[in-house]
Amino acid sequence: MKNFDTVSLSFCGGSHDHKHCIKTALNEAEELCLTRGVRLTEVRKRVLELVWESHNPVGAYDVLSKLSQESGKTAPPTVYRALDFLLEQGLIHRIESMNAYVGCSHPSEEHSGVFLICNNCGCAAEVHDSAIDQAILNKTDSLGFKTDQRMLEVRGTCPDCHSTQ
Ligand SMILES: [Zn+2]
Ligand SMILES: [Zn+2]
Ligand SMILES: [Zn+2]
Repeated sequence: MKNFDTVSLSFCGGSHDHKHCIKTALNEAEELCLTRGVRLTEVRKRVLELVWESHNPVGAYDVLSKLSQESGKTAPPTVYRALDFLLEQGLIHRIESMNAYVGCSHPSEEHSGVFLICNNCGCAAEVHDSAIDQAILNKTDSLGFKTDQRMLEVRGTCPDCHSTQ
């Protein structure tokens, strides 16, 4: 087995128990918020759950329409505020090029987002590799560049789509 298991889990075709991913993510979020003394309100939790529905990034509008379907008309700011909160707490990442959000599988560790995004099925797998992080930091430091936010998006074809071509 490659040391890539959390990454390969994220490739959507890879059959795995996704309920387990959601459950783990929600438990971790609850614990984190508790330790940080911030509130994971019902809305915030539900929004997190909706983002975690799959490993494909979801747009704010999709979250909004799902939320409206299940709990009556929801105001857009409610969703945006919840997404901002989740971003701030590192529970989700924003994929700029898709204008969409995806759940983070290791929110308790400070890290940059490195994503492998499939052009075919749209899944986004987060790579957790401190060597990449460190390499970026070393480079920016040596150039005297102060980094606020680090996010890498790598485009290509995921293993699932690759094997069916
Ligand atoms: Zn999963
Ligand atoms: Zn992450
Ligand atoms: Zn794919």
